[in-house]
Amino acid sequence: MNMYDIIHKKREGGKLSGDEIRFFVNGYVDGSIPDYQMSALLMAIYFRGMDSEETYQLTDCMLRSGDIIDLSAISGIKVDKHSTGGVGDKTTLITGPIAAACGVPVAKMSGRGLGFTGGTLDKLESIPGFRTRLTPDEFIKNVNELKIAVMGQTEAKAGDSPVNLVPADKKIYALRDVTATVENLSLITSSIMSKKLAVGSDAIMLDVKCGDGAFMKTPEEAFELAKAMVGIGVDAGKTTAAVISGMDQPLGKAVGNSLEVIESVETLKGNGPDDLTELSLSLAGIMVHMSGLAESVREGLVMADEALKSGRALETFRKFVAAQGGDTRIIDDYSVFAQASVAKEVRAEKSGYVSRVAAETVGLASQRAGAGREKKEDSIDPAAGIILSAKLGDRVESGDLLATVYSNENARAEEAVKLLASAYEISGEAPEVKPIIIDMVMPEGLLRLK
Ligand code: URA
Repeated sequence: MNMYDIIHKKREGGKLSGDEIRFFVNGYVDGSIPDYQMSALLMAIYFRGMDSEETYQLTDCMLRSGDIIDLSAISGIKVDKHSTGGVGDKTTLITGPIAAACGVPVAKMSGRGLGFTGGTLDKLESIPGFRTRLTPDEFIKNVNELKIAVMGQTEAKAGDSPVNLVPADKKIYALRDVTATVENLSLITSSIMSKKLAVGSDAIMLDVKCGDGAFMKTPEEAFELAKAMVGIGVDAGKTTAAVISGMDQPLGKAVGNSLEVIESVETLKGNGPDDLTELSLSLAGIMVHMSGLAESVREGLVMADEALKSGRALETFRKFVAAQGGDTRIIDDYSVFAQASVAKEVRAEKSGYVSRVAAETVGLASQRAGAGREKKEDSIDPAAGIILSAKLGDRVESGDLLATVYSNENARAEEAVKLLASAYEISGEAPEVKPIIIDMVMPEGLLRLK
């Protein structure tokens, strides 16, 4: 077997065997296959695609390239939640405590933000004292006692050495990033699902984002990705479901680390924006059903709603923050968070309806303000970010406040304001505002809606 023949076969639209897939994944990880051959193969896959069997083989092979975490010491059916990435997406901070308050063991390994998307670890670390580096024993103990713990994937340790989760994805993703081969269904599916399967949960709840600020721009593309990921999860023996949710504009009104935690706390207090509340409750309700604690999704939704309205989800969040060393005063007094020294406003230049709030541009503006990273090594400012006062469909008059940028550097704030202003469009006619949940993929027989 050699790499030239594999590239040639895929270039001509052929189907790769499990052995051929193993050959190039293992060869790329051990360094015997050079970047130029792997790049050529990725481009051939990008144009020719892979069928579901090839995608399964690729996922399985990537999954086996590193450590697989054993969560069997955590009792109950553990449900992991994953979002394909968006702007202002803080649902884990809300869905996690709601599901945990219903009894679902939420053992969450999260990542950091890069580019225009944020990361759960950065958001949590904006809480003074919060630790995302937990020992495996602490992680397991917290999930068993509180039903929720969140730790960093790369910070995780097995024994004395750091856990090495899916090294094949780290290497292949870095190459895809610089060879314009990220946006391929099979490559995205195998990249995400190999990591989900490596962290050892029993069930997987996927939130596939769709729109301007997502990999998948149309509902059709997002549906295909959701179907492919659910298919792989089910084939791997995990209960898996997906929600397809809108990402044409940021989710909620806050973008940036501490600002998103504050919005999450407000949502747990019952005062959250409608889109964020609806999505968080829906994901939690499905998770409750997936963990076997509700007979149907509908019953899971009722339980999730009750956990939110009764304040039990907020209390779970308080215990979770305390257990990971965070200052729980932030829940009742937002001035405990680090504060930004500069606030700059963006105002409407004319009257009309907000017809566009480009999610990606808002994410980039937040990054410029200091909330995000351009490179993995960059540090971030927990207080920086954006509050959107006007969202899609809102009626505004000339001079009304559209959004506010928070930063600790004047020059950064100025740049962010320019970007943010370009994210907004105002037109004479009210635009169609789509519901936050566009579609769902539920494997028949595994999940019951009613
Ligand atoms: N997120 C991932 O982890 N991998 C992809 O390929 C795309 C999004």
